[in-house]
Amino acid sequence: MAVTKKNTTILKNYINGQWIEANTEATLEVPNPATGEILATVPISSKEDVDLAVQAAKEAFATWKNTPVPKRARILFKYHTLLSDSHAELAKLIVEENGKAYNEAFGEVQRGIECVEFAAGAPTLMMGETLSGIAEDIDSEMFRYPLGVVGGITPFNFPMMVPLWMFPLAIACGNTFVLKPSERTPLLANKLVELFTQAGAPPGVLNVVHGAHDVVNGLIEHEDVKAISFVGSQLVAKYVYEKSAAQGKRVQALSGAKNHHIVMPDADMDKAVQHIVSSAYGSAGQRCMACSAVVVVGNNEDFVQALKKKADELIIGNGLDDEVLLTPVIRDSHRSKVLEYIEKGIEEGASLIRDGRVEADQMTGGTFLGPTIFDHVTPEMTIAKDEIFAPVLSLLRAEDLDEGLEYIRKSRYGNGATIYTKDAKAVRKFREEADAGMLGVNVGVPATMAFFPFSGWKDSFYGDLHVNGKDGVNFFTRKKMITSRYDF
Ligand code: NAD
Repeated sequence: MAVTKKNTTILKNYINGQWIEANTEATLEVPNPATGEILATVPISSKEDVDLAVQAAKEAFATWKNTPVPKRARILFKYHTLLSDSHAELAKLIVEENGKAYNEAFGEVQRGIECVEFAAGAPTLMMGETLSGIAEDIDSEMFRYPLGVVGGITPFNFPMMVPLWMFPLAIACGNTFVLKPSERTPLLANKLVELFTQAGAPPGVLNVVHGAHDVVNGLIEHEDVKAISFVGSQLVAKYVYEKSAAQGKRVQALSGAKNHHIVMPDADMDKAVQHIVSSAYGSAGQRCMACSAVVVVGNNEDFVQALKKKADELIIGNGLDDEVLLTPVIRDSHRSKVLEYIEKGIEEGASLIRDGRVEADQMTGGTFLGPTIFDHVTPEMTIAKDEIFAPVLSLLRAEDLDEGLEYIRKSRYGNGATIYTKDAKAVRKFREEADAGMLGVNVGVPATMAFFPFSGWKDSFYGDLHVNGKDGVNFFTRKKMITSRYDF
């Protein structure tokens, strides 16, 4: 990959209101996936850096937990304004470090801002409950309190939205926070913390430690970290969940996915094709809610041909260019793994009806891969089971809705699933029987908004309380009950 070095500045960590150099010699370059240009160098921080950040967060917690809730919320209102004023700049930064198309990045910024909007409702969200008269002259009240220092570990695919699932609500609830962003997309995290400081957050309330597994393990093992919020791939999510739980920490770990879209024979075919193409190939298929398996019900050859035609027409390129929908995958190492999956699909007998390796060979400069479609995939094949996290779509054939629902049940993952139909009975059956946490009806990416929980099932989520919505508030607070007798 052609590499132009523009800026080899080593990023700093943000600890106790100061930008400080990491205590490490280890670094990684951060290339723009569309051009190979090096945007920055990220330090792979050590456990000592984690300790510094946790100590700062612990000290800040002593004051922050007692800061009146409306005062905390006002910082979030200000943050909301600053983020909104920087909307276009943030979107451009996401495109540069992540590679996704500008309109996708713009939407991601909006999704992130909505999390801040939700968290700004902290005075209402944190209210407790009371019951006068649980017995004669006795009342019961429930109050909510923060936990302490919370650690957040985030993936590369949503450098803005996922950190904003975590720290605004955690901090609004009175916790202090140490964020470990993805080492592959570290730039936006620094911008987010810069704006949060401008919004009036006191030193130590939000800290950022860049790096990889040492930082993750440092957070998990630190006795002063009370909860861990994690989003990333399945093996790491399970590891973080088990290890954090073993340390007695509260943990939520959002994991990988394989999202099935069932296309019923009565569906509006044009719209189904349009939604599936944008869900499967937008962000280069690197979304935890991306459609990666289509269940074609009935012998619907017209749908398959229309899907292939639409995939052929996709404009592939740099996300900053107009009309581009299919952008590069994050790194060459990831593309190599995807190419292995394509080989595996062929080997296991699926029919490759659109081969994205052609564009991978033709397009230079970035880690591009064309839209790929396998037809006649069966649930036992590796490409049907694994999360490939790329613009590779598997078509499974089913006789009826029951068979389609069975495919969903067989999948180890259960993040999202969608049905395309106009039949109310089919919708109801799908709603009752689809074995996944976020369902769509004629919707390509049924991701929930900030006031609802973001809810994966099965191996797509480890923990109890999901991110966002009331689950998020429950995750970031602990409850205290007081029972009072007044018969004196
Ligand atoms: P990843 O698991 O490689 O990285 C996620 C985080 O874990 C990063 O901060 C990384 O530094 C850290 N990490 C990676 N390997 C580690 C290890 N061995 N030990 C400790 N920490 C480690 O994930 P990614 O490639 O950045 O993100 C894509 C994955 O995230 C996909 O599987 C996608 O489905 C998932 N994801 C899930 C959701 C959801 O809501 N369920 C949302 C977004 C992304």
